[in-house]
Amino acid sequence: MTKGDQQPRGRRARGESTPPRARPLQLTCPVCDSGFTTQVFAATGCAGQDTDFRPRFPEGDPLPHLVHVCPECGYGAMRDGFDEVEPVVREWVLAQGLGAQTPCGGAERWLRAAACRSVALAHTPDELGQLYARAAWCARAQGERELERRCQRDAVLAFERALAEGYVGEDDQQMILYLVGELYRRLGLFPLARVMLERAGQVAGVGKYGDALSRLVERQLRAAEERCSDNMQI
Ligand SMILES: [Zn+2]
Repeated sequence: MTKGDQQPRGRRARGESTPPRARPLQLTCPVCDSGFTTQVFAATGCAGQDTDFRPRFPEGDPLPHLVHVCPECGYGAMRDGFDEVEPVVREWVLAQGLGAQTPCGGAERWLRAAACRSVALAHTPDELGQLYARAAWCARAQGERELERRCQRDAVLAFERALAEGYVGEDDQQMILYLVGELYRRLGLFPLARVMLERAGQVAGVGKYGDALSRLVERQLRAAEERCSDNMQI
């Protein structure tokens, strides 16, 4: 996924948006070598975002389909995760017997991708945070609040580790600090939310996201001070 996925986006008129269109994609699993057919979607328009950067789509939701899961062994990843896989991941997937538990929902698919990626020696905590955040996005669309909270907790832990261990570059500091603060707010952990959102405010102007993110930081800090944990839109 690109860092551009995380930027606040402006609202687009409905007429400018393109509905998701599925087309078949043949993949070969890098774990068990099985071939299978999955689906990919054409780029869709964005009709706003929630405050954790979840895009809102005017027609259909492609997010659950951005993770592909092998129906034989259960390996799950985004498209580029099917190019090659570390031997340690292959051994782990086969030892877990994941093929017998093929996930159906979008949240479960993103959690499967996070589980597989977390085994890779080359994984970084910030990329795991993004996978868990997307699982939370899908859980919200599924109406499963407890699952959403679990995914948000996992995302926060991963992003906190990324910040503490230096995986977040200067350009992205404000965005990740904001996202952690916003996730703490959604979890009802308001003192922690305020600390992180205040830190995000202190690095305003350093990163690449500009005034739009700084205004969002200020607004969500006020929401945290008012002890509001509602899902909100940008
Ligand atoms: Zn497989």
